[in-house]
Amino acid sequence: MSSAWTHPVCGPCYDELEPGREPVRLRDPELESCCACGFPTRSGIYYRRDPDRFPRCTRDHDDR
Ligand SMILES: [Zn+2]
Ligand SMILES: [Zn+2]
Repeated sequence: MSSAWTHPVCGPCYDELEPGREPVRLRDPELESCCACGFPTRSGIYYRRDPDRFPRCTRDHDDR
């Protein structure tokens, strides 16, 4: 699967996507733009989903 499906998301947006679930976070996160709200975030949370579901997604994520 291509990396276009792995999106950085901020904490509040993850909460909306997966209410009540504890996200997996990177230990040393980089500054990224949240694919859901578009704001910069250092949450270290990555979420796998069809990029069509994220209108703000740049589809330009690095491979991880
Ligand atoms: Zn994305
Ligand atoms: Zn967000």
